[in-house]
Amino acid sequence: MLNVNQAIVLGAISTGGGLAQIEEQLGFCDLPVMSSHLYQKIQNELAHSIHELAWEIIEQAGVQERRIAIEKGHIGKDSIPYITVIADGAWSKHSYKVNYDAASGVGVIIGQETKKVLFLGIRNKYCCLCARAENKEEQPIAHMCFKNWSGPSTGMESNIIFEGFKQSIEMHGVKYLCLVGDGDSSVTKKLADARPYDTPVSKIECRNHLLRNYCTRLRALTQKKTSSKNLPVSVKQRNILMNSIKRLRSGIIGAINYITTEKSEECHAEKFRLLKKDIYNGPYHVFGNHEKCETYFCSKMTNIDQDEQKKGYHWVAEMKASGRFQDILYVAERVTRNAESLILNMDNNAAECYNSVVAKLVGGKRINYTARRSYATRCEVAAISYNVPAGEFPRLSIKK
Ligand SMILES: [Zn+2]
Ligand SMILES: [Zn+2]
Repeated sequence: MLNVNQAIVLGAISTGGGLAQIEEQLGFCDLPVMSSHLYQKIQNELAHSIHELAWEIIEQAGVQERRIAIEKGHIGKDSIPYITVIADGAWSKHSYKVNYDAASGVGVIIGQETKKVLFLGIRNKYCCLCARAENKEEQPIAHMCFKNWSGPSTGMESNIIFEGFKQSIEMHGVKYLCLVGDGDSSVTKKLADARPYDTPVSKIECRNHLLRNYCTRLRALTQKKTSSKNLPVSVKQRNILMNSIKRLRSGIIGAINYITTEKSEECHAEKFRLLKKDIYNGPYHVFGNHEKCETYFCSKMTNIDQDEQKKGYHWVAEMKASGRFQDILYVAERVTRNAESLILNMDNNAAECYNSVVAKLVGGKRINYTARRSYATRCEVAAISYNVPAGEFPRLSIKK
């Protein structure tokens, strides 16, 4: 029951556009365009309805997640069900790994079972009405202010996630006792320090982030012309490492898949032992020394020809002599420290997916939609489109 102007504004918000895009689109159709004042007014009306709908849908996701927890018997001594969640944050603009000064940030908590948004928080450092008044050295006029953050942008994510944990019992009647995260230590630290529940929250590192770090560290090694033994490393050795990074990575993935499927009946300690062994053996295998390979891990184990084996031994020995092989093993050893997380084979893709929906709706983080309420509205639209299955259209009721 939207009128044509409301429909156009909702269409723009839901596809990552703004008034500029509407003007251009309608210009092609030779149709008149609403004023910027009317656009703002409609956006405010819609914002309210979108907010209500988003939280209604989030609440429904909580009900589903809680039901699954109860069915699985995941109930604590205090008879409160507990669940695993995935969390992540994003900023309103690209940091390009140098500028961590975004004006707005969003943090999201997603249920592991339903893969639906259970909590969403926004932090805004900037409000254009306050800023304008400040520039003129005046008192700002009475307005609905969306500025709710004065700390550094880097602190937004952990603040939002902690807020979500603190509200979980009241909102959904569950505790978030396990968190799958992207290795951001500020969130873990905040949860460990401020303890939202009487039971500690355990942390699982996302598999993809651990593997990405592994590759990044290996790539950094290829740039180093001397080893940590302070001996020169030949160009050939560095090139071969560069060309083997993908295989080193897929070796770990293969081992995880094997252990989580074929060895799923084994006890935890045995899985842990096997995975650690495979991660540590990976570089030997990739560089041609198959002495310690498991038969499931490597076919060369049973039918390698003598010449090839000799070559492999020789090559590993050469890399050991320069100290480069030890460097690689050290990097592999860092991965084994997270073997506990790897056995669980979880990732935070769901949260990254949500972030990519937000990125689309805020114009690829390149347009500034953060001046007033717009950023929050777009993050809420993202939650609606993320939680609602494709093809279903929830009803948005506009209040005047
Ligand atoms: Zn303000
Ligand atoms: Zn092998």
